[in-house]
Amino acid sequence: MARYIDAKCRLCRREGEKLFLKGARCAGPKCALARRSFSPGQHGQTRIRSKLSNYGLQLREKQKVKRMYGILEKQFRRYFHEASKIKGVTGKILLQFLERRLDNVIFRLGCGVSRAQSRQIVRHNFVYVNSKRVNIPSYPIKEGDTVELKAKGKALEKIKENIEMSSERTVPGWLKFDKQALKANILRLPEKEDIGQPIQEQLIVELYSK
Ligand code: SF4
Repeated sequence: MARYIDAKCRLCRREGEKLFLKGARCAGPKCALARRSFSPGQHGQTRIRSKLSNYGLQLREKQKVKRMYGILEKQFRRYFHEASKIKGVTGKILLQFLERRLDNVIFRLGCGVSRAQSRQIVRHNFVYVNSKRVNIPSYPIKEGDTVELKAKGKALEKIKENIEMSSERTVPGWLKFDKQALKANILRLPEKEDIGQPIQEQLIVELYSK
């Protein structure tokens, strides 16, 4: 599967916003965006964001969300098409698709310090959904599901360490997490307010609807 392997901090600097791709480093003084708050590349310091066209704004918003969730274009577009086929507000359904991904749920629970690490936790067979092992990061979680982590040895220590480290990050209201049992219940579908980061999903809908 294709994946992005270049420097992650470049992505935040390009979007001019923290996308929290590197765990603990993102909250500290070593955050690249805090030290170099201009776009990467030779002309990064001279690029003027306020001059973006409508299309530019839509494109940047789409790129931001895609990068935040660690998804490539093809899959992101597929999410949009699926969302547009469902009755309701397309932008809201698109965000729900993204939030309901299993790797994102593991990140939201604090078991992984970043979505990339959470994806690895899923890929390494530590996650069970409704008592069945699931190792597909994009697996969509539904209301009423239970998500459990079963790990041993060093992996278990690392997950517990992550939970400890992310204790100031609140678990969103649509998830109920028992930190001792490493088990979560999905109480409801996520809402935009649960994401905790500003997203203008309407711009993405406008971009793909052209
Ligand atoms: Fe983005 Fe985190 Fe890098 Fe800061 S440290 S630029 S938030 S990935």
